Amino acid sequence: MDTAKPDWQARAKVIAIDGRAVIGGKRIASVSGETFACVSPIDGRVLGAVARGAAADIDAAVQSSRKAFDDGRWAKRAPAQRKKVLLAWAEKILAAKEELALLETLDMGKPIRYSLSVDVPSTARCIAWYAEAVDKIYDEIAPTPQSALALITREAMGVIGAVVPWNYPMIMAAWKLGPALAAGNSVVLKPSEKSPLTALRLAELALEAGLPEGVFNVVPGYGHEAGEALALHPMVDAIGFTGSTRVGRKMLEYSGRSNLKRVYNELGGKSAFVVFPDFEDVVRAAKTAAGSMYFNQGESCNAPSRVFVHESIADEFVSVVAAEAPKYQPGDPLDAATEMGAIVDETQLRSVLGYIDAGASEGARIASGGKRSRVESGGYFVEPTVFDGVRNDMKIAREEIFGPVMSVIRFKTEEEAVALANDSLYGLQASVWSHNINRAHRVARALRAGTVHVNQYDEDDITVPFGGFKQSGNGRDKSLHAFDKYTELKTTWIRIDAA
Ligand code: NAD
Repeated sequence: MDTAKPDWQARAKVIAIDGRAVIGGKRIASVSGETFACVSPIDGRVLGAVARGAAADIDAAVQSSRKAFDDGRWAKRAPAQRKKVLLAWAEKILAAKEELALLETLDMGKPIRYSLSVDVPSTARCIAWYAEAVDKIYDEIAPTPQSALALITREAMGVIGAVVPWNYPMIMAAWKLGPALAAGNSVVLKPSEKSPLTALRLAELALEAGLPEGVFNVVPGYGHEAGEALALHPMVDAIGFTGSTRVGRKMLEYSGRSNLKRVYNELGGKSAFVVFPDFEDVVRAAKTAAGSMYFNQGESCNAPSRVFVHESIADEFVSVVAAEAPKYQPGDPLDAATEMGAIVDETQLRSVLGYIDAGASEGARIASGGKRSRVESGGYFVEPTVFDGVRNDMKIAREEIFGPVMSVIRFKTEEEAVALANDSLYGLQASVWSHNINRAHRVARALRAGTVHVNQYDEDDITVPFGGFKQSGNGRDKSLHAFDKYTELKTTWIRIDAA
């Protein structure tokens, strides 16, 4: 058995990058011939050239996916046959785990240990889970009078446009691809221009696993070019979008301006983490808040970025998070010991630093961090930052920062805590910390969020739905509920004549 640890730096120097689109089973350059530079946030170096897909490329991909859907090469296969191919794909993803993990880390800056232990296995598990589910789901027969039979069936919708962000590039794609492909649809995926590399490899692996050509196409490109063209395309039946609330709004507009395609938005968050004094272990609560906030460089839609702490325990809580934060000091993402990596690009780095300045100038106190770090690397790193004395009306408490910045807000009463936690445009996730069983249930019910945790923050599984209330989106990724997004419900009435 080879027990040698991979030398990630050495591999990174020689890794081959193919940035061409995958359309109709082939790697192809963009119609215009244009490319954009894929830059690594680890050191600012150009990893390679990526096809700059635009309307013509999207049209080719959608036509290819439409043809694949209409001729039934995938949609008309028995669910058990689709399962077989998707399981083979999941195996190939696992077999390529080191290559995929390295591409993900180089492309968007997360630590290699997490690309390897979280992103790749979660992606494979998601594909395998929907594969396993699809031949175990039954349709319905309605309780109608004897003179008729009413079948309620689910049918694949057609061509799904998937548009995804850069923070978990493979996992976000898999949350769309798993249910959409298992149900028999074809998919055109537009990855983020900041992290296109793994999506292209996933498509190649799918072909190797036996997914028919055209069923899954990938077109890299910018949002306002390729993304917009996909969302406006009249042959696309639904858009599965994950990204910012700003672009989610545009997705709804594109649908209105084109064919009223279904739009499922999984958008931003500003999640509340509410700690009551009757929670018996303030240290555990504070350590969990820090771990969840700084995971993935704070670039998680569900990061607990607004931490509400009762005034009687706030000083202790802040001193623990301020001591914990430096443990997540960013390091080289290619070092297997690194806990926190690079911010995805220079624009995002500037945005995060701008929020830190805004917090300080509005009067919040920096209890830890607050600066750029590892400047000499040429990459984009920010210290894990804790703000104390934040008010819920400050910019850092209202807007999604999408970086390693925690805001601690003090409260006096349960009523005030719930009102403050719910006073946000977003409603993706929340948590309540209390050992009073009545309070824990009462507050969990009162919090307006798609997922509420009690006395923990990190539980997660493909078996549970994920998505938001309010401007955090609509529809749900993950679990069997995700099939609702990519299937149409049909009622078929059959007359049964009397003998
Ligand atoms: P973004 O909205 O800028 O981009 C997301 C995708 O949309 C990218 O592929 C981008 O190219 C594309 N896009 C951008 N402009 C477009 C346009 N005009 N038309 C069509 N497509 C366009 O978001 P981001 O910066 O990549 O990702 C961060 C956001 O994603 C955060 O708000 C985060 O909370 C959210 N997010 C949500 C979830 C969830 O499940 N709710 C999960 C992960 C990330």
